[in-house]
Amino acid sequence: MALEEYKRKRQFDQTPEPPPSLPKKPGHRFVVQEHRATRLHFDFRLELDGVLKSWAVPKGPSLDPADKRLAMQVEDHPVSYFDFEGTIPEGNYGAGTVMVWDVGTWEPLSPVQVDGKYVPTSDADALKMLAKGDLKFRLKGQRLSGDFAIVHIRSRRPGTKGNEWLLIKKHDPFAVDGFDAEQFETSVLTKRTMSEIGGDADSAEWTSSRPAARGRLKAPWLAKAVAKFDQKRAQERKQTAAAEKPSSKKSKTRSSKTTEADAGEEKKTAKSRLKRSA
Ligand code: MN
Repeated sequence: MALEEYKRKRQFDQTPEPPPSLPKKPGHRFVVQEHRATRLHFDFRLELDGVLKSWAVPKGPSLDPADKRLAMQVEDHPVSYFDFEGTIPEGNYGAGTVMVWDVGTWEPLSPVQVDGKYVPTSDADALKMLAKGDLKFRLKGQRLSGDFAIVHIRSRRPGTKGNEWLLIKKHDPFAVDGFDAEQFETSVLTKRTMSEIGGDADSAEWTSSRPAARGRLKAPWLAKAVAKFDQKRAQERKQTAAAEKPSSKKSKTRSSKTTEADAGEEKKTAKSRLKRSA
């Protein structure tokens, strides 16, 4: 069963989270849940193939294309988790408060550009892209919109589980420089804050004696993985540009120049990030 791991980790007589179940019809919703567990993080979930494909994003998703957000893939969740908001009691898996930070719909995008654009594609393609570790998609949410990619990275970090991905915003009209997920403090569903969801007594305890770790990632291995990823991307872009040259129409030449410039810019970003994290 698809949700076996979800089921194994939880005691449904103790947690308010929904029990595992599969939906009757396929949907294309997405949700981002802010989760104040041992370490504050944002859970990013895409409805696909009857479940919510899920990643824990320590710094939260970003609309800034310069950000490459680490996203750890976690077990598939039931689609009924979509609007879960509440407090998972102490002693349970993922104990802490969950707030629905964004909801909306999504669609998978073609793995390669068609006439210079990524275009909507099928779920079958989406599953293939996921298996390959490079899924492109478009979001229509209240706080997140536009085109994104989530890309599996392979790090040699000791103890790695191989579940590390990067969540990256594409350059488009929805991009926002310096985006910070934590600036939004209320639930898009109930307009409540974390403290209000956690309940008065709990929230007082929460803010005074048990602040969630901010989850800063002191991770040189990540900077390395990002740099490697950038290199690979730049290489791929060069190849694409070279392949496009024979049919050298004016617009195509220009767009391939733009992508190479973009790749250079991404490289710089990774370098400066390396410095910062060192
Ligand atoms: Mn979580």
